[in-house]
Amino acid sequence: MNARVWKKVATSTAFYSRQQLLHVISQPRSTPVQSAIPTCLHSWHLFSHRSVQQQHHRQKSSIATDLYSVQQQQLQHSKGVTTGINGKPLYKPIAFYSLIPIPRERVIALRDIIETRLSELDVVGRIYLAPEEGIGGINCQMAVPLTHMAQVKKFFNSLHDDFGPISFTEGLEELPEPCFRKLRVMIKKNLVGVKESIHASDLVDPSTHHLDPVDWHQQLCEQADKAFLVDMRNHYEYDMGHFEHAAKLDVDTFREGLDELQNMIKGQPDKTLYMYCTGGIRCDVTASYLRKNGIKDFKMLKGGITAYGNYMKSLSNDGNLGNDKLAATTKTTTTEARSLFRGKNFSFDDRRGERITSDVLTQCYQCGNPCDTLHNCANTRCHLLFVQCESCKQAMNSTCSDTCNDVLSGKKTWKMGYNYHRQIRPKTTSSSCSH
Ligand SMILES: [Zn+2]
Ligand SMILES: [Zn+2]
Repeated sequence: MNARVWKKVATSTAFYSRQQLLHVISQPRSTPVQSAIPTCLHSWHLFSHRSVQQQHHRQKSSIATDLYSVQQQQLQHSKGVTTGINGKPLYKPIAFYSLIPIPRERVIALRDIIETRLSELDVVGRIYLAPEEGIGGINCQMAVPLTHMAQVKKFFNSLHDDFGPISFTEGLEELPEPCFRKLRVMIKKNLVGVKESIHASDLVDPSTHHLDPVDWHQQLCEQADKAFLVDMRNHYEYDMGHFEHAAKLDVDTFREGLDELQNMIKGQPDKTLYMYCTGGIRCDVTASYLRKNGIKDFKMLKGGITAYGNYMKSLSNDGNLGNDKLAATTKTTTTEARSLFRGKNFSFDDRRGERITSDVLTQCYQCGNPCDTLHNCANTRCHLLFVQCESCKQAMNSTCSDTCNDVLSGKKTWKMGYNYHRQIRPKTTSSSCSH
Protein backbone atom coordinates (compact mmCIF):
# COMPACT_ATOMS: atom_id res chain seq x y z
CA MET A 1 0.00 0.00 0.00
CA ASN A 2 1.27 3.43 -0.93
CA ALA A 3 2.74 5.43 1.94
CA ARG A 4 0.73 8.54 1.05
CA VAL A 5 -2.55 6.65 1.23
CA TRP A 6 -1.49 5.11 4.52
CA LYS A 7 -0.83 8.57 5.85
CA LYS A 8 -4.20 9.81 4.66
CA VAL A 9 -6.00 6.86 6.21
CA ALA A 10 -4.13 7.33 9.45
CA THR A 11 -4.87 11.05 9.68
CA SER A 12 -8.47 10.80 8.56
CA THR A 13 -9.38 8.08 11.01
CA ALA A 14 -7.45 9.39 13.99
CA PHE A 15 -10.37 11.60 14.97
CA TYR A 16 -12.99 8.87 14.91
CA SER A 17 -13.64 6.02 17.27
CA ARG A 18 -14.50 2.66 15.75
CA GLN A 19 -18.21 3.10 16.55
CA GLN A 20 -18.24 6.64 15.12
CA LEU A 21 -16.58 5.45 11.97
CA LEU A 22 -19.01 2.63 11.42
CA HIS A 23 -21.93 4.93 12.08
CA VAL A 24 -20.69 7.63 9.72
CA ILE A 25 -19.80 5.33 6.89
CA SER A 26 -23.06 3.40 7.05
CA GLN A 27 -25.16 6.53 6.45
CA PRO A 28 -26.61 7.08 2.97
CA ARG A 29 -24.05 8.91 0.87
CA SER A 30 -26.21 11.97 0.40
CA THR A 31 -26.61 12.77 4.12
CA PRO A 32 -24.64 15.71 5.54
CA VAL A 33 -22.75 13.45 7.92
CA GLN A 34 -21.52 11.33 5.01
CA SER A 35 -20.57 14.19 2.76
CA ALA A 36 -18.69 15.75 5.67
CA ILE A 37 -16.28 12.85 6.04
CA PRO A 38 -12.99 13.19 4.23
CA THR A 39 -12.77 11.66 0.76
CA CYS A 40 -9.80 9.69 1.94
CA LEU A 41 -12.12 7.63 4.11
CA HIS A 42 -13.04 5.90 0.90
CA SER A 43 -9.46 4.74 0.81
CA TRP A 44 -10.62 2.45 3.60
CA HIS A 45 -12.23 0.33 0.98
CA LEU A 46 -8.88 -0.09 -0.71
CA PHE A 47 -7.04 -0.36 2.55
CA SER A 48 -9.26 -3.01 4.02
CA HIS A 49 -9.47 -5.03 0.82
CA ARG A 50 -5.70 -5.13 0.45
CA SER A 51 -5.17 -5.75 4.12
CA VAL A 52 -7.35 -8.84 3.99
CA GLN A 53 -5.63 -10.13 0.88
CA GLN A 54 -2.02 -9.25 1.47
CA GLN A 55 -1.27 -8.22 5.00
CA HIS A 56 -2.38 -11.01 7.32
CA HIS A 57 0.95 -10.87 9.05
CA ARG A 58 0.23 -7.34 10.19
CA GLN A 59 -2.02 -6.46 13.07
CA LYS A 60 -5.46 -7.91 12.37
CA SER A 61 -7.77 -5.01 11.70
CA SER A 62 -11.35 -5.99 12.45
CA ILE A 63 -12.47 -2.42 11.95
CA ALA A 64 -11.15 -2.52 8.41
CA THR A 65 -13.05 -5.71 7.69
CA ASP A 66 -16.25 -4.25 9.14
CA LEU A 67 -15.82 -1.08 7.13
CA TYR A 68 -15.19 -3.11 4.00
CA SER A 69 -18.43 -5.04 4.33
CA VAL A 70 -20.41 -1.86 5.08
CA GLN A 71 -18.81 -0.22 2.04
CA GLN A 72 -19.79 -3.17 -0.11
CA GLN A 73 -23.41 -2.95 1.06
CA GLN A 74 -23.37 0.76 0.43
CA LEU A 75 -21.94 0.22 -3.03
CA GLN A 76 -24.83 -2.06 -3.90
CA HIS A 77 -27.23 0.50 -2.49
CA SER A 78 -25.70 3.33 -4.50
CA LYS A 79 -26.16 1.40 -7.76
CA GLY A 80 -29.88 1.78 -7.35
CA VAL A 81 -30.04 5.48 -6.50
CA THR A 82 -28.44 7.00 -9.58
CA THR A 83 -31.66 8.09 -11.14
CA GLY A 84 -32.23 11.42 -12.84
CA ILE A 85 -35.26 12.95 -14.50
CA ASN A 86 -38.21 10.55 -15.02
CA GLY A 87 -36.38 7.86 -13.12
CA LYS A 88 -33.71 7.53 -15.82
CA PRO A 89 -30.17 8.63 -15.15
CA LEU A 90 -28.88 11.43 -17.32
CA TYR A 91 -25.19 11.58 -18.10
CA LYS A 92 -22.90 14.40 -19.01
CA PRO A 93 -19.59 13.97 -20.82
CA ILE A 94 -16.76 15.63 -18.94
CA ALA A 95 -13.04 15.77 -19.61
CA PHE A 96 -9.85 17.16 -18.18
CA TYR A 97 -6.13 16.57 -18.41
CA SER A 98 -3.05 17.51 -16.49
CA LEU A 99 0.50 17.20 -17.83
CA ILE A 100 2.41 16.81 -14.63
CA PRO A 101 5.28 14.65 -13.31
CA ILE A 102 4.05 11.80 -11.09
CA PRO A 103 6.35 8.99 -9.85
CA ARG A 104 5.55 5.55 -11.28
CA GLU A 105 4.72 4.08 -7.87
CA ARG A 106 2.17 6.80 -7.24
CA VAL A 107 0.65 6.35 -10.71
CA ILE A 108 -0.07 2.71 -9.85
CA ALA A 109 -1.70 3.74 -6.54
CA LEU A 110 -3.74 6.45 -8.29
CA ARG A 111 -5.08 3.94 -10.79
CA ASP A 112 -6.57 1.91 -7.93
CA ILE A 113 -7.88 4.93 -6.02
CA ILE A 114 -9.55 6.40 -9.12
CA GLU A 115 -11.00 3.10 -10.27
CA THR A 116 -12.49 2.38 -6.84
CA ARG A 117 -14.04 5.80 -6.32
CA LEU A 118 -15.41 6.21 -9.84
CA SER A 119 -16.96 2.74 -9.76
CA GLU A 120 -18.80 3.78 -6.61
CA LEU A 121 -20.11 6.84 -8.43
CA ASP A 122 -21.27 4.86 -11.52
CA VAL A 123 -18.88 6.75 -13.77
CA VAL A 124 -17.85 5.22 -17.10
CA GLY A 125 -15.09 6.43 -19.37
CA ARG A 126 -11.49 6.16 -20.40
CA ILE A 127 -8.78 7.42 -18.12
CA TYR A 128 -5.09 7.33 -18.95
CA LEU A 129 -2.34 7.85 -16.44
CA ALA A 130 1.35 8.08 -17.33
CA PRO A 131 4.42 8.30 -15.10
CA GLU A 132 6.96 11.11 -15.17
CA GLU A 133 9.53 9.28 -17.37
CA GLY A 134 7.38 10.21 -20.38
CA ILE A 135 4.61 12.65 -21.23
CA GLY A 136 3.04 12.02 -17.87
CA GLY A 137 0.00 12.99 -15.84
CA ILE A 138 -3.65 12.22 -16.46
CA ASN A 139 -6.01 12.41 -19.43
CA CYS A 140 -9.57 11.75 -18.44
CA GLN A 141 -12.75 11.41 -20.49
CA MET A 142 -15.86 10.32 -18.68
CA ALA A 143 -19.64 10.10 -18.77
CA VAL A 144 -20.85 11.08 -15.31
CA PRO A 145 -24.40 10.67 -13.95
CA LEU A 146 -25.66 14.22 -13.36
CA THR A 147 -26.62 13.26 -9.83
CA HIS A 148 -22.97 12.46 -9.06
CA MET A 149 -21.29 15.29 -10.95
CA ALA A 150 -20.44 17.36 -7.87
CA GLN A 151 -18.98 14.32 -6.08
CA VAL A 152 -16.84 13.40 -9.08
CA LYS A 153 -15.40 16.92 -9.32
CA LYS A 154 -14.84 17.01 -5.58
CA PHE A 155 -13.01 13.69 -5.74
CA PHE A 156 -10.60 14.84 -8.47
CA ASN A 157 -10.09 18.18 -6.75
CA SER A 158 -9.11 16.25 -3.61
CA LEU A 159 -6.19 14.84 -5.65
CA HIS A 160 -4.77 18.35 -5.97
CA ASP A 161 -1.34 17.25 -4.72
CA ASP A 162 -1.08 14.90 -7.70
CA PHE A 163 -2.77 16.77 -10.54
CA GLY A 164 -2.70 20.44 -9.51
CA PRO A 165 -5.70 22.67 -10.21
CA ILE A 166 -8.12 20.95 -12.60
CA SER A 167 -10.03 22.69 -15.35
CA PHE A 168 -13.02 20.48 -16.23
CA THR A 169 -14.52 20.75 -19.71
CA GLU A 170 -18.12 19.63 -19.93
CA GLY A 171 -19.69 18.36 -23.13
CA LEU A 172 -22.46 20.34 -24.81
CA GLU A 173 -25.30 17.91 -24.28
CA GLU A 174 -26.76 15.79 -21.54
CA LEU A 175 -27.16 12.17 -22.60
CA PRO A 176 -29.86 9.59 -21.82
CA GLU A 177 -27.21 6.87 -22.20
CA PRO A 178 -23.54 7.08 -21.24
CA CYS A 179 -21.18 7.58 -24.20
CA PHE A 180 -18.76 4.95 -22.85
CA ARG A 181 -19.65 1.33 -22.16
CA LYS A 182 -17.45 0.81 -19.13
CA LEU A 183 -14.85 2.38 -16.90
CA ARG A 184 -11.26 1.80 -17.94
CA VAL A 185 -8.37 3.27 -15.97
CA MET A 186 -5.10 2.48 -17.75
CA ILE A 187 -1.43 3.28 -17.42
CA LYS A 188 0.45 4.33 -20.58
CA LYS A 189 4.02 5.29 -21.30
CA ASN A 190 3.01 8.65 -22.77
CA LEU A 191 -0.38 10.38 -22.60
CA VAL A 192 0.06 11.46 -26.22
CA GLY A 193 1.77 9.17 -28.76
CA VAL A 194 5.05 10.73 -29.90
CA LYS A 195 8.26 9.63 -31.59
CA GLU A 196 10.65 11.21 -29.14
CA SER A 197 9.39 11.22 -25.59
CA ILE A 198 9.95 14.07 -23.16
CA HIS A 199 10.29 13.73 -19.39
CA ALA A 200 7.17 15.24 -17.86
CA SER A 201 9.22 17.77 -15.89
CA ASP A 202 10.72 19.08 -19.18
CA LEU A 203 7.36 19.93 -20.74
CA VAL A 204 7.14 23.71 -21.13
CA ASP A 205 4.39 25.66 -19.42
CA PRO A 206 2.04 26.30 -22.34
CA SER A 207 -0.13 28.89 -20.58
CA THR A 208 1.56 31.93 -22.17
CA HIS A 209 0.49 30.60 -25.59
CA HIS A 210 -3.15 29.97 -24.60
CA LEU A 211 -6.02 32.01 -25.97
CA ASP A 212 -9.40 31.58 -24.35
CA PRO A 213 -12.31 31.02 -26.77
CA VAL A 214 -13.32 34.70 -26.72
CA ASP A 215 -9.86 35.97 -27.76
CA TRP A 216 -9.41 33.08 -30.17
CA HIS A 217 -12.69 33.92 -31.88
CA GLN A 218 -11.87 37.61 -32.06
CA GLN A 219 -8.36 37.17 -33.46
CA LEU A 220 -9.50 34.65 -36.09
CA CYS A 221 -12.37 36.95 -37.11
CA GLU A 222 -9.88 39.77 -37.64
CA GLN A 223 -7.46 37.68 -39.66
CA ALA A 224 -10.02 35.61 -41.60
CA ASP A 225 -8.28 33.72 -44.42
CA LYS A 226 -4.94 35.44 -43.66
CA ALA A 227 -4.52 33.43 -40.45
CA PHE A 228 -1.94 30.64 -40.37
CA LEU A 229 -4.32 28.22 -38.73
CA VAL A 230 -3.60 24.48 -38.32
CA ASP A 231 -5.90 21.72 -37.12
CA MET A 232 -3.71 19.44 -34.98
CA ARG A 233 -6.00 16.41 -35.22
CA ASN A 234 -6.10 13.42 -37.55
CA HIS A 235 -7.63 13.53 -41.03
CA TYR A 236 -10.99 11.97 -40.11
CA GLU A 237 -11.45 14.34 -37.18
CA TYR A 238 -10.85 17.31 -39.51
CA ASP A 239 -13.27 15.96 -42.10
CA MET A 240 -16.18 15.87 -39.63
CA GLY A 241 -15.74 19.49 -38.65
CA HIS A 242 -13.08 22.20 -38.45
CA PHE A 243 -12.45 25.93 -38.19
CA GLU A 244 -12.87 27.91 -41.39
CA HIS A 245 -9.57 28.40 -43.25
CA ALA A 246 -7.82 25.77 -41.10
CA ALA A 247 -5.10 23.68 -42.75
CA LYS A 248 -5.48 19.92 -42.51
CA LEU A 249 -2.44 17.87 -41.51
CA ASP A 250 -3.90 14.86 -43.34
CA VAL A 251 -2.19 12.39 -41.06
CA ASP A 252 -3.39 9.27 -39.27
CA THR A 253 -1.60 9.88 -35.97
CA PHE A 254 -0.36 12.76 -33.86
CA ARG A 255 3.27 11.68 -34.20
CA GLU A 256 3.07 12.06 -38.00
CA GLY A 257 1.37 15.41 -37.47
CA LEU A 258 4.31 16.90 -35.58
CA ASP A 259 6.63 16.37 -38.59
CA GLU A 260 4.02 17.73 -40.96
CA LEU A 261 3.50 20.82 -38.79
CA GLN A 262 7.20 21.66 -38.83
CA ASN A 263 7.15 21.55 -42.64
CA MET A 264 4.18 23.92 -42.69
CA ILE A 265 5.94 26.35 -40.35
CA LYS A 266 8.95 26.46 -42.69
CA GLY A 267 6.59 27.59 -45.43
CA GLN A 268 5.13 30.42 -43.30
CA PRO A 269 8.18 31.75 -41.43
CA ASP A 270 6.84 35.21 -40.62
CA LYS A 271 3.36 34.31 -39.46
CA THR A 272 1.95 33.55 -36.04
CA LEU A 273 0.80 29.94 -35.94
CA TYR A 274 -2.69 29.34 -34.51
CA MET A 275 -3.40 25.73 -33.61
CA TYR A 276 -6.21 23.80 -31.99
CA CYS A 277 -7.29 20.27 -31.14
CA THR A 278 -10.26 18.60 -29.39
CA GLY A 279 -9.59 19.47 -25.77
CA GLY A 280 -6.14 21.08 -25.76
CA ILE A 281 -3.76 18.28 -24.72
CA ARG A 282 -2.27 17.70 -28.16
CA CYS A 283 -1.53 21.42 -28.57
CA ASP A 284 0.03 21.62 -25.10
CA VAL A 285 2.39 18.77 -25.99
CA THR A 286 3.12 20.34 -29.39
CA ALA A 287 4.17 23.52 -27.58
CA SER A 288 7.11 21.67 -26.01
CA TYR A 289 8.30 20.33 -29.37
CA LEU A 290 8.03 23.74 -31.01
CA ARG A 291 9.91 25.48 -28.20
CA LYS A 292 12.58 22.77 -28.36
CA ASN A 293 13.05 23.66 -32.04
CA GLY A 294 13.28 27.39 -31.31
CA ILE A 295 9.74 28.23 -32.48
CA LYS A 296 7.98 30.66 -30.14
CA ASP A 297 5.47 32.53 -32.27
CA PHE A 298 2.37 30.41 -31.82
CA LYS A 299 -1.00 30.55 -30.09
CA MET A 300 -3.44 27.81 -29.23
CA LEU A 301 -7.06 27.42 -28.22
CA LYS A 302 -7.36 26.79 -24.50
CA GLY A 303 -9.76 23.91 -23.80
CA GLY A 304 -9.86 23.09 -27.52
CA ILE A 305 -12.94 22.85 -29.71
CA THR A 306 -15.02 21.64 -26.75
CA ALA A 307 -14.42 24.91 -24.89
CA TYR A 308 -15.13 26.90 -28.07
CA GLY A 309 -18.40 24.96 -28.53
CA ASN A 310 -19.42 25.87 -24.99
CA TYR A 311 -18.61 29.52 -25.70
CA MET A 312 -20.76 29.46 -28.85
CA LYS A 313 -23.53 27.78 -26.92
CA SER A 314 -23.37 30.50 -24.27
CA LEU A 315 -23.95 33.10 -27.02
CA SER A 316 -27.03 31.30 -28.24
CA ASN A 317 -30.22 31.96 -26.32
CA ASP A 318 -31.84 28.62 -26.94
CA GLY A 319 -28.77 26.40 -27.15
CA ASN A 320 -29.24 25.69 -30.86
CA LEU A 321 -25.80 26.03 -32.37
CA GLY A 322 -26.79 26.28 -36.02
CA ASN A 323 -25.15 29.23 -37.74
CA ASP A 324 -28.41 30.77 -38.92
CA LYS A 325 -29.84 30.54 -35.47
CA LEU A 326 -26.76 32.10 -33.92
CA ALA A 327 -26.87 35.00 -36.34
CA ALA A 328 -30.57 35.54 -35.67
CA THR A 329 -30.41 35.37 -31.88
CA THR A 330 -27.70 38.03 -31.51
CA LYS A 331 -28.67 40.88 -33.77
CA THR A 332 -25.91 43.27 -32.70
CA THR A 333 -22.92 41.76 -34.47
CA THR A 334 -23.42 38.65 -36.51
CA THR A 335 -19.64 38.24 -36.87
CA GLU A 336 -19.27 37.95 -33.11
CA ALA A 337 -22.02 35.38 -32.89
CA ARG A 338 -21.15 33.24 -35.87
CA SER A 339 -19.32 30.03 -35.08
CA LEU A 340 -16.03 29.83 -36.95
CA PHE A 341 -16.04 26.10 -36.33
CA ARG A 342 -18.29 24.21 -38.73
CA GLY A 343 -19.75 20.75 -38.32
CA LYS A 344 -19.06 18.18 -35.63
CA ASN A 345 -16.31 17.98 -33.02
CA PHE A 346 -15.10 14.37 -33.31
CA SER A 347 -14.90 12.53 -29.98
CA PHE A 348 -13.28 9.22 -29.10
CA ASP A 349 -16.40 7.74 -27.53
CA ASP A 350 -19.63 6.11 -28.66
CA ARG A 351 -21.02 9.43 -29.93
CA ARG A 352 -18.13 9.76 -32.41
CA GLY A 353 -18.68 13.48 -32.26
CA GLU A 354 -20.57 16.40 -30.79
CA ARG A 355 -22.41 18.79 -33.08
CA ILE A 356 -21.28 22.41 -33.00
CA THR A 357 -23.17 23.67 -36.07
CA SER A 358 -25.73 22.12 -38.39
CA ASP A 359 -23.24 22.03 -41.31
CA VAL A 360 -22.69 18.52 -42.68
CA LEU A 361 -19.23 18.40 -44.22
CA THR A 362 -18.90 14.75 -45.23
CA GLN A 363 -20.77 12.25 -47.43
CA CYS A 364 -21.92 8.70 -46.98
CA TYR A 365 -19.10 6.42 -48.07
CA GLN A 366 -21.53 4.22 -49.99
CA CYS A 367 -24.22 6.43 -51.58
CA GLY A 368 -22.51 9.82 -51.48
CA ASN A 369 -25.37 11.66 -49.77
CA PRO A 370 -24.50 14.34 -47.21
CA CYS A 371 -23.97 12.58 -43.90
CA ASP A 372 -21.63 12.92 -40.92
CA THR A 373 -22.44 9.84 -38.88
CA LEU A 374 -19.39 7.67 -38.31
CA HIS A 375 -19.50 3.95 -37.60
CA ASN A 376 -17.00 1.16 -37.34
CA CYS A 377 -17.57 -1.64 -39.83
CA ALA A 378 -19.60 -4.41 -38.16
CA ASN A 379 -17.02 -6.94 -39.39
CA THR A 380 -14.82 -6.53 -36.34
CA ARG A 381 -11.80 -7.89 -38.21
CA CYS A 382 -12.09 -4.95 -40.63
CA HIS A 383 -13.31 -2.33 -38.12
CA LEU A 384 -13.04 0.49 -40.67
CA LEU A 385 -14.17 3.84 -39.28
CA PHE A 386 -16.33 5.32 -42.01
CA VAL A 387 -19.31 7.58 -42.72
CA GLN A 388 -22.53 5.70 -43.43
CA CYS A 389 -26.09 6.97 -43.78
CA GLU A 390 -28.98 5.18 -42.11
CA SER A 391 -30.36 3.57 -45.29
CA CYS A 392 -26.93 2.23 -46.34
CA LYS A 393 -26.42 1.00 -42.81
CA GLN A 394 -29.62 -1.02 -43.08
CA ALA A 395 -28.83 -2.29 -46.58
CA MET A 396 -25.22 -3.26 -45.77
CA ASN A 397 -25.80 -4.62 -42.26
CA SER A 398 -23.49 -1.87 -40.92
CA THR A 399 -20.57 -3.12 -42.97
CA CYS A 400 -18.28 -1.12 -45.27
CA SER A 401 -18.28 -3.46 -48.29
CA ASP A 402 -19.82 -6.53 -49.87
CA THR A 403 -16.80 -8.50 -48.70
CA CYS A 404 -17.33 -7.47 -45.08
CA ASN A 405 -21.05 -8.17 -45.40
CA ASP A 406 -20.19 -11.69 -46.63
CA VAL A 407 -17.66 -12.19 -43.81
CA LEU A 408 -20.29 -11.10 -41.33
CA SER A 409 -22.82 -13.59 -42.65
CA GLY A 410 -20.25 -16.40 -42.79
CA LYS A 411 -20.13 -16.69 -46.60
CA LYS A 412 -16.48 -15.65 -46.73
CA THR A 413 -13.50 -15.80 -44.42
CA TRP A 414 -11.39 -12.75 -43.58
CA LYS A 415 -7.83 -12.90 -44.86
CA MET A 416 -6.36 -9.48 -44.05
CA GLY A 417 -4.10 -8.91 -41.04
CA TYR A 418 -4.39 -6.08 -38.57
CA ASN A 419 -3.46 -2.65 -39.93
CA TYR A 420 -4.39 0.45 -37.98
CA HIS A 421 -3.99 2.81 -40.92
CA ARG A 422 -6.33 0.77 -43.12
CA GLN A 423 -8.95 0.95 -40.37
CA ILE A 424 -9.14 4.73 -40.55
CA ARG A 425 -8.38 5.38 -44.25
CA PRO A 426 -11.43 4.39 -46.30
CA LYS A 427 -10.87 4.13 -50.02
CA THR A 428 -12.72 6.82 -51.94
CA THR A 429 -15.67 4.79 -53.23
CA SER A 430 -17.41 1.64 -52.18
CA SER A 431 -16.86 0.09 -55.62
CA SER A 432 -13.09 0.23 -55.12
CA CYS A 433 -13.39 -1.30 -51.69
CA SER A 434 -12.36 -4.89 -52.20
CA HIS A 435 -10.56 -6.48 -49.30
ZN1 LIG B 1 -25.63 6.08 -47.83
ZN1 LIG C 1 -15.35 -3.48 -43.50
